[in-house]
Amino acid sequence: MNGASATMMHEEVVFHFCPVCGGKLQSRVVKSEEPARLVCSRCEFVYYLDPKVVACSIVEIDGRIVLLKRGIEPQKGKWVMPGGYVDRGEEVRAAAVRETEEECGLKTRIRGLHGVYSYPGRITVVIAYLAEAVGGDLKAGDESVEARLVHPADIPWAELAFQSTTDALTEFCKRKKQQDRGSAGR
Ligand SMILES: [Zn+2]
Repeated sequence: MNGASATMMHEEVVFHFCPVCGGKLQSRVVKSEEPARLVCSRCEFVYYLDPKVVACSIVEIDGRIVLLKRGIEPQKGKWVMPGGYVDRGEEVRAAAVRETEEECGLKTRIRGLHGVYSYPGRITVVIAYLAEAVGGDLKAGDESVEARLVHPADIPWAELAFQSTTDALTEFCKRKKQQDRGSAGR
């Protein structure tokens, strides 16, 4: 993927110079009801710091889901769903499919939107899909040390990377239980 490692980086990076003319950027209130912006002192270019969009997939295979153990920082050694940054101009669903294949070797088909996760002060917006495997073999990609199929009852909650992973999987398990109750009542 084009790295969740960049997540950390972008949150720490401070931009000093205008990407258009190289002039000095200054923090300035452009609209009173909005946060201060970085504005070029030379050409007035406004450098908007936009959110970063992450697309990921909850890939379900025979009642279990794919989790990857991260081999890189941040959150090295913790578990995540396959996913990564959406490229500019890329369809979000296509990014989820691409990242999933890159990270765990599985070709997938999106079954639907699972949820959107964002948090105050955080730059990433995580869009999680439900997906099914349609080909390939499960294996750890470049950025993982292990790929595993995990039953919802065995999710390692204390070892998950990122709040969005915990929140997406919590919701997944809750809906599973509701579905199970629904089918048991029939
Ligand atoms: Zn400039």
